[in-house]
Amino acid sequence: NIPATVASDLLVPLADGRVTDYANFDHGASAPCLESVRAAVEAALPSYASVHRGNGYASRITTQWYERARAEVHGFVGARDDDQVIFTRQTTDALNLLARAVPADATVIVFESEHHAALLPWPAERTTRLAAPTSHAAAVTAVADALREAPEGPRLVVITGASNVTGEIFPIAEIAAVAKAHGARVCLDAAQLAPHRVVDIQELDVDWVALSGHKLYAPYGAGALIGRADWLNAADPYLLGGGATAAVTSDATVWNQGPARHEGGSPNVIGAIALAAACAAITEHREAIEQHERSLLARLRTGLAQIAGVNTYDIFGADADRVGTVCFTIDGVSSTLVSAALSAEYGIGVRDGKFCAHPLVGHLLANSPEATAVRASLGLGTTREHVDRLVSAVRSLATNGLTTEYDETPHGCQP
Ligand code: PMP
Repeated sequence: NIPATVASDLLVPLADGRVTDYANFDHGASAPCLESVRAAVEAALPSYASVHRGNGYASRITTQWYERARAEVHGFVGARDDDQVIFTRQTTDALNLLARAVPADATVIVFESEHHAALLPWPAERTTRLAAPTSHAAAVTAVADALREAPEGPRLVVITGASNVTGEIFPIAEIAAVAKAHGARVCLDAAQLAPHRVVDIQELDVDWVALSGHKLYAPYGAGALIGRADWLNAADPYLLGGGATAAVTSDATVWNQGPARHEGGSPNVIGAIALAAACAAITEHREAIEQHERSLLARLRTGLAQIAGVNTYDIFGADADRVGTVCFTIDGVSSTLVSAALSAEYGIGVRDGKFCAHPLVGHLLANSPEATAVRASLGLGTTREHVDRLVSAVRSLATNGLTTEYDETPHGCQP
């Protein structure tokens, strides 16, 4: 009963001449497109036109689609009536937009365990970085302590819903409660959480949520920042140009209030439609998605735990609630070579490296001879056969080591 992804006929040529279907364990980076998303995009493609810019029939229809997509995303995260949805390129863009809107005298508090997208955009001189926490209670206490020491003025606490490295879920509501008690606002990076668990702004009592369509089973190019309007309406527009303007004369410009202020230029209407269609499908199938992933994750973690020489890494501990991501190393085999062998010999796609979370990976691997790890992240495209294939491949690598030489050159920008 899980929503169908677009059927993939991707066959992987293996080193021994066989071919196999691709076992995608990289959902945490980008997830495959849903059938219903493809259908929504295909329906819009023949007749889309400019948004908020024309009185022609196609323009008016497209404007409706765009605003309907905005309403769907608003509902997807349980936003308050007066919260606004600003379409962005992805989570990175959404968090950078919020960073530009943080008042000049604000203090920002952020854990070092964040993805770089949530760690780096904030003004350095006014940001307090907290060490990666080791328990939920320690995370809440660290935020409370930092807020107690923060100067007067506006405050923003930035937290990640689920770690992109370990999949572990942070105590969002507890941190938000402490933040509120100290007059702080909270921004939730939901890039990894939203595809797997309900994110409800009101229940969590957070002020902003950032997310990416391409991790939510929609194609690239659209994400959103959802939340309070006041800081954003007071900030300079993100992109200066058409759409952001209410009136322009020779010597003065009046900028729009609301989402338009930060959506300068012609919007990515097809991206917004795709994102909204993904939100609708995920909302409809929430329970089934969670069940599917919980059972595959348990199978994967149990399988890996039984293999000598395999080390898994957690921020909070093995019992922490988590989405379908596992971070591991194999004794004696570098993570780059593990991922190369998994791909060439088994048709399995994982990610290796530091996952755009260098401080966290440094902290997790502090006692390990390895500098990088392997991340396997499952999702709607994952089957039991894929999990069993991964476990048996890891067992073989841990037991026999590498039997073939692979190029150890990093295949990306030390990601
Ligand atoms: N935050 C987290 C937790 C992520 O996992 C990612 C993507 N890996 C991002 C932010 C950035 O997302 P995007 O690349 O879509 O901007």
